[in-house]
Amino acid sequence: PPYQAASDRYDQMKYRYCGNSGLQLPEISLGLWHNFGHNADFTLGRKILRRAFDLGICHFDLANNYGPPFGSAEENFGRILQKDFKTYRDELLISSKAGWDMWPGPYGNFGSRKYIIASCDQSLKRMGLDYVDVFYHHRPDPNTPIEESMGALDQLVRQGKALYVGISQYNAEDTAKAYQILKEMGTPLLIHQPRYSMLDRWVEDGLLDVLGDKGIGSIAFSPLEQGMLTNKYLGGIPEDSRAAKDGRYLKPEQINEDKLAMIKALNDIAIKRGQTLAQMAIAWLLKDPRITSVLVGVSKPEQLDDNVNAVKNTQFSSEELKAIQSIIGA
Ligand code: NDP
Repeated sequence: PPYQAASDRYDQMKYRYCGNSGLQLPEISLGLWHNFGHNADFTLGRKILRRAFDLGICHFDLANNYGPPFGSAEENFGRILQKDFKTYRDELLISSKAGWDMWPGPYGNFGSRKYIIASCDQSLKRMGLDYVDVFYHHRPDPNTPIEESMGALDQLVRQGKALYVGISQYNAEDTAKAYQILKEMGTPLLIHQPRYSMLDRWVEDGLLDVLGDKGIGSIAFSPLEQGMLTNKYLGGIPEDSRAAKDGRYLKPEQINEDKLAMIKALNDIAIKRGQTLAQMAIAWLLKDPRITSVLVGVSKPEQLDDNVNAVKNTQFSSEELKAIQSIIGA
């Protein structure tokens, strides 16, 4: 049967304005880095996207090279859009990026205008879209003037290929520069996409202050440390987990005794709060108003049902914060 989105899809999710902009993001967004390539189960991916939208998760995050192979997550997403979401395009916020390896030769990587413009055109074709809502420069390029990379983002907006622009993985200083350059060109820097979780807090050392001062929104990636900040690894490494299935980014040896002791202690606090650890890990990021959205990945629809309940309680008592600090550091 054709997909009909749940009529109550906007009832439980909460939405936050992205920095000083007029654009709202769901507190939880879904990324297609894993589980949407040609190596993945297409029907399952389709179920995940349907469930996400039914739960009010209207923001889907992609990049040129998500797969594997590169480009295949965008291709599959385009097929699913065509089948299920055609009439919902204006309810969806779709992002893509360029900045990492994509095609061979000097024009398929990093931050030149040549690469960024061509890559966005390819992404639009793969997804079957006229425009993306947000286009990101995926990582800073030390060998390209930041004016050139930001100029390419500005050009995409002027060409109508992107409505808003963002950057990812830029440090605080380069973020302030990017913001200023884009501002002078008349294109606001909407959003920054940094890695941020209870176990990786580099953004607290300057970046969040820049984002707060300038009114730039933010979306935190790998908030669950690729699954480590859930209860799934407490009893060993399940066969269907990322650590067991896909050794590229999360290796079984990363889940060592020290990590497990932290995860166990955090899990105990989550239980006392009446949350799962995944919910607490998301809520802990959302307690900061400078975080617009938390960008999770999931391998099953049920994980979304768990994660979305995080938005029900994003407040922490000072005792809870202290107990958490004693585990993850001040
Ligand atoms: P997470 O930290 O949310 O990890 C997601 C994984 O955790 C899932 O695939 C699943 O793995 C497991 N998981 C999720 N929810 C639960 C749950 N409730 N219970 C148990 N296990 C759970 O994020 P990702 O590392 O996947 O990154 C999220 C998104 O961020 C990406 O899709 C991408 O859009 C973006 N990203 C951006 C980057 C950038 O450079 N800008 C870099 C990396 C990511 P399992 O297979 O074990 O079930």
